[in-house]
Amino acid sequence: MKRIAIIGASHAGVSCADKLRQYGFKGALILIDRLPGFPVQRPPLSKKLFQSDDADFAAFYLRSKEFFTQENIELRTNSNVTSIDQKTKTISLEDGDDITYDILILALGADAKIPNFVSKQASNIYVLRDTQDALKLRKTALNSDKAVIIGGGFIGLEVASSMRRAGLTVDLVEFEPRLLARVSSPQISEFFRLLHNKQGVSFHLGKAVTEIIYSDNDQARSVKLSSGEILECDVLVFGIGVAPNINLAKSLGLCVADGVTVDNTYLASEDIYVIGDLAFSQKRTKTRIESVYHAQFSAAVAAASITGSNMPEQEAFWFWSDQYDVKLQIAGILPKTSEAQQIHKEVRSGKKKGSFSVWSWYQDKLVCIEAIGDPQSYMIGKRLLEQDTDISPEMIADETVSLKQLFEKFVANAS
Ligand SMILES: Cc1cc2nc3c(=O)[nH]c(=O)nc-3n(C[C@H](O)[C@H](O)[C@H](O)COP(=O)(O)OP(=O)(O)OC[C@H]3O[C@@H](n4cnc5c(N)ncnc54)[C@H](O)[C@@H]3O)c2cc1C
Repeated sequence: MKRIAIIGASHAGVSCADKLRQYGFKGALILIDRLPGFPVQRPPLSKKLFQSDDADFAAFYLRSKEFFTQENIELRTNSNVTSIDQKTKTISLEDGDDITYDILILALGADAKIPNFVSKQASNIYVLRDTQDALKLRKTALNSDKAVIIGGGFIGLEVASSMRRAGLTVDLVEFEPRLLARVSSPQISEFFRLLHNKQGVSFHLGKAVTEIIYSDNDQARSVKLSSGEILECDVLVFGIGVAPNINLAKSLGLCVADGVTVDNTYLASEDIYVIGDLAFSQKRTKTRIESVYHAQFSAAVAAASITGSNMPEQEAFWFWSDQYDVKLQIAGILPKTSEAQQIHKEVRSGKKKGSFSVWSWYQDKLVCIEAIGDPQSYMIGKRLLEQDTDISPEMIADETVSLKQLFEKFVANAS
């Protein structure tokens, strides 16, 4: 009976172990992670930063404590993998132990970036990627009045929302001229700018941090911007994106670019699968995707490939963000900003006051729906994407025709 080792016990790794058992894998299964404790979901870490006072985040466990014993999955946390020997199929841990495998699954995700000029000694500068980061950030933020957040992507904005709710003043600095520039349409960026402004966040768009000024006891006291402005802070958070954890993959000689190149079954090399945020599948996604759904989907595909089970159906890739009381739901993938000129957009009002959705076409194909407080548009848009329909911008722009009618025409009658 084969032995499978999964390195990384987060969204991708845990889903993969679960799916392997669901698909009938009866061999030994070991799940390894450098973090201590039971595996925890990541999305609540920014959205509910101050809403759980449970130090071990039990409310957000990916699976119950019992799950691992019931499914006979050996969970080895607090175990950093330092090297892998492909010839002997052996994983070496920092604590000196070795673990052998027949099939290896790398679910190593990514680490939050932090600029080189940041002092490693500073005790009030944070990133937010895992439970350890969240615990430290929350502790400091609860005793702070002024937060400066660098980065106007989803993490930066969700942290801003949590910080405002906890009563801190928030200055948010973004290098690009608009928020969410890499991942959202300009209409969505503007909506969130206004929402956060209304909640009291001060934005510094199109500006960069040129210097961090420290106190004598190595605390960041203020940041200097390219405009010359100085922003004071008690807590400084960097939400400037992530770098995939490629080092172990590189040492195995796998093909590494932005993430590890895999085929459409997430196989990177003989007996080595790479899943989740670390994987880059030209065939499946054409870009590296950082989302819970992609982590779960890639895990299910790898597990199906290993066990010879039917491949899971691929949904349109989806994502969400919660800020204050507003939910953004996204289905599909927006083409890169360099292709912005070729994207056709239509905005449609939702049922509730203030709700709306942005629909994007690229090369005459519907590619993405972003919905603010508008679950109906999200759901119908997602189905339209999955059916690969030729719905046109004119049809979406015509609000006299309901989405339900369009759904019936393009989806219900087609299936
Ligand atoms: C704060 C936050 C909020 C988010 N919100 C959303 C959201 O709303 N919607 C959404 O779709 N996505 C969201 N995401 C993104 C989503 O969480 C990621 O796409 C997902 O976690 C990727 O899963 P993964 O298992 O591939 O990688 P990760 O979650 O990064 O897990 C990788 C694991 O590998 C472990 N590891 C790495 N190197 C080693 C080593 N050498 N030895 C042992 N273990 C190792 C790490 O400790 C880690 O636990 C959010 C992410 C964060 C951080």
